[in-house]
Amino acid sequence: MASPNDSPGPDAGASLPRRIFNYLWRATWLKCPVCGTRPIFLPLHRVRSFHDWFTPLDGCPRCGYAYDREPGYFLLALWGIDYGVAAVVGILTAVYVQIFHADWSYTKTLLAAGLPVGIVGFLFIRHAKAYFLAIDHLADPYIPPSDEEDGGDGGGGGGGGRTPVPPAPEDDPGESRDPAGQPGSGIALEQEAGARREAEHAGIR
Ligand SMILES: [Zn+2]
Repeated sequence: MASPNDSPGPDAGASLPRRIFNYLWRATWLKCPVCGTRPIFLPLHRVRSFHDWFTPLDGCPRCGYAYDREPGYFLLALWGIDYGVAAVVGILTAVYVQIFHADWSYTKTLLAAGLPVGIVGFLFIRHAKAYFLAIDHLADPYIPPSDEEDGGDGGGGGGGGRTPVPPAPEDDPGESRDPAGQPGSGIALEQEAGARREAEHAGIR
């Protein structure tokens, strides 16, 4: 097992409080909790459906950290974090209405408290999943392949049962500066890999 100070990747040697801050900070910006450079979700301007909004990309092309690992992986993120935050907002709204608008009818109070629950639940879902990934990485640190090759901690704390996404073989420095993070999408990676395979086949013939 990795000890609290035995952190992998860019957080190597960081104290536990520092790591907690780093992971949660990256999650707040919806970035990979391990390297903090690549987005977890499609950028907003590329979102075309609810599925695009809710669903994380396959994984981080830079460090290989897998986001969406198995069916039901984000169940706790939804029920524990997203619904939890939405419920707290609903309860606080209901209390506010009870105190400052005590004359409102039951239906009006219910609507006033219920509407924020739906809105917050929808808007916060990406962050709920990102925070869940951060917590998971904190509890069971993922060790990027390059770290393992270097010796790592040898403890195998880097994620039993995980299927990391292979990192992109060529890391264009321009990509990481792209705030939209388009190159980080799984689709772009697949297309890139497909084009490379075709090029290789053409070379063989
Ligand atoms: Zn990463």
